[in-house]
Amino acid sequence: MITLKKLPYEFNALEPFIDARTVEIHYTKHHQWYADKLNSLIEWTEFESMDLEEIIMKSGGPIFNNAAQVWNHTFYWEWFIPNSKWIDGNTEISSAINNKRWSFENFKTEFTNSAIWNFGSGWTWLVKNSNGELSIVNTSNAANPMTDGLIPLLTVDVWEHAYYLKYQNRRAEYLENWWNLVNWNKVEELYGR
Ligand code: MN
Repeated sequence: MITLKKLPYEFNALEPFIDARTVEIHYTKHHQWYADKLNSLIEWTEFESMDLEEIIMKSGGPIFNNAAQVWNHTFYWEWFIPNSKWIDGNTEISSAINNKRWSFENFKTEFTNSAIWNFGSGWTWLVKNSNGELSIVNTSNAANPMTDGLIPLLTVDVWEHAYYLKYQNRRAEYLENWWNLVNWNKVEELYGR
């Protein structure tokens, strides 16, 4: 049985970049639905006693899709912070970005373009491999890069339900606003792990 984690802030905490109504529907309808669906699918199966990451690594089909969507959204919410600030200087994530010969600005451009060109529904990720090397990857539908042995450091949901109420078809505008909410301290913590 998987229990959905409580949203770590009020529905309006991400205003004006992501509106309260979108957060409310995204969390209470979409995210909750994936969790409910997952619990109904794993009942009486070998997956019932596994934690979420183990289910993601060992399942396929509808169980995988719903499990990965529960995980992806939980992290998506936790990567938000009102008043986001890029943590430059002596941080591991800023050296890793520099090692990649990215400036912070061109990293942002590359990530944003990747998310704009992620066709249909999916997620765009900043990940590290086992050598600590960074890359930007797109996944479709529910897919999560952990099944390719990569460690997610940051993600953005580019399913239309993540932005349609406020931005309609304007994904680029959603993304531009999304950068104002990124919790870089969490990215740093995950990178250093
Ligand atoms: Mn979503």
